[in-house]
Amino acid sequence: ETIGENLRRTVARFGSREALVVAHQSYRATYNELWQQAGQLAKALLALGVAAGDRVGIWAPNRYEWVITQFGSARAGAVLVNINPAYRAEELKYALNQSGCRVLLLAPSFRQTNYQALLASVRAQCPALETVVVLGADWEAFLAAGVPVADEDLAEREAGLQFDDPINIQYTSGTTGFPKGATLSHHNILNNGYFIGETLRYTEADRVCIPVPFYHCFGMVIGNLACSSHGACMVVPAEAFDPAATLQVVQDERCTSLYGVPTMFIAELELPGVGQYDFSRLRTGVMAGSPCPEEVMKKVQTVLNMREVTICYGMTETSPVSAQSYVDDPLAKRVSTVGHVHPHLEVKVIDAATGHLVPRGTPGELCVRGYSVMLGYWNNPAATAATIGAARWLHTGDLATIDTEGYLNIVGRIKDLVVRGGDNVYPREVEEFLYTHPAVADVQVIGVPSLRYGEEVMAWVKLKEGHSATGPELASFCKNRISTTKIPAYWKFVDSFPMTVTGKVQKMVMREQAVKELG
Ligand code: ATP
Ligand code: MG
Repeated sequence: ETIGENLRRTVARFGSREALVVAHQSYRATYNELWQQAGQLAKALLALGVAAGDRVGIWAPNRYEWVITQFGSARAGAVLVNINPAYRAEELKYALNQSGCRVLLLAPSFRQTNYQALLASVRAQCPALETVVVLGADWEAFLAAGVPVADEDLAEREAGLQFDDPINIQYTSGTTGFPKGATLSHHNILNNGYFIGETLRYTEADRVCIPVPFYHCFGMVIGNLACSSHGACMVVPAEAFDPAATLQVVQDERCTSLYGVPTMFIAELELPGVGQYDFSRLRTGVMAGSPCPEEVMKKVQTVLNMREVTICYGMTETSPVSAQSYVDDPLAKRVSTVGHVHPHLEVKVIDAATGHLVPRGTPGELCVRGYSVMLGYWNNPAATAATIGAARWLHTGDLATIDTEGYLNIVGRIKDLVVRGGDNVYPREVEEFLYTHPAVADVQVIGVPSLRYGEEVMAWVKLKEGHSATGPELASFCKNRISTTKIPAYWKFVDSFPMTVTGKVQKMVMREQAVKELG
């Protein structure tokens, strides 16, 4: 099935139900309206001469036009190129040229950055780019240009599309380096969205609050495709993450599900007025993207009333989700593991050096195989070959264990592992422990170079409002509770962490900063 075919089935079943609510634009549409607007967009692309497989870029924060473009470009068979809203001129140029975009849809501006001016500064160096559509200003005229295209022409285009055609280039978060463009098919992302919705037990009655960016798989797959394949409603609070706006929309739109990376949930829980909202409709949701602290998972269930919250584990390259907890997994497992492997996927845990399976329970590199594995990195066979190995096993770069009941646990990224005097220290373990300290709001642990031990453990701590703690105090809190090797030698107190647009902490940037500061 293609994304368009799947949407058509949803429209046939739930056409008059609400599909999309975008609070900051006061926009609402039913599935019938979404179908109709996506069709208009597809026709507008046809009118421009966009062929199946041509690249169409979108550079915008979360707006309703993003969703129309996602479904409309899929119906036209174009490859949508998701461009990170945090990009500036050089990165934009790179994405446009690397993917060869013929058309670019862009927001006029975002967070005081004038997108049109940035584009103008590099446009002459983007030879493939023919058409630029400014969302808002040019939108109506752009859609109107598609009106003369006959229904039959669009129907013919749609009938010619294949489920395994590339449909999307999604860039990774850029947590560990320069983002890579994963090429994904209808089959890849539609099926993943469907299974996510199944695991969350979505029906047409669900209303899903999506404060995570559309440009990333968390928004467009875990969000939009999980909803559209089940007739659920996508609810968008703001252009970019805003904790208060998110909780307000959860209440006002009576959302049943809420998404976020751990840092977003931490920010929501930290809001002084968090207890005043009505969360009575909230049932489930997804925490994902980076290690999900147990303390935060527990609070989400009590404070936000997300009794059936799940954790997803995945990566852009696997469409994205590979494992997810079930809504009825026992609490202890649901807060501490990433659940079970998703349907129709295989995983294995290997010794990255030898490629051999490690004994059950031993950490090793997680590999994934199945329908969700990307077609490859766009125009980058070397990077693709380094990631997808023999028999199409995808190497995640993450360390995992699988227990005897089949629960997967993500231990951390291979790149973030701290090797102190020959001992492996998993930052996540130290972070989990420090979260149990009453003054700690958020904590991130990294390794910094040490002459004596090779690496030393360093913790960056964000304290809760009105609380105080010093490095020595926190170190003595650790003493006799975790082994000496794991106790941070360095402590730094911060108000925030270096972060990607997807809300992930960039430990690579932290390490660079720490190395400079420590000399
Ligand atoms: P880049 O690949 O550009 O460095 P990235 O890996 O953060 O960035 P994404 O594809 O957005 O890009 O994220 C996938 C990664 O996020 C996974 O490989 C894993 O390290 C981490 N991750 C995702 N979900 C979880 C989770 N539930 N628990 C722990 N880590 C997770
Ligand atoms: Mg990655």
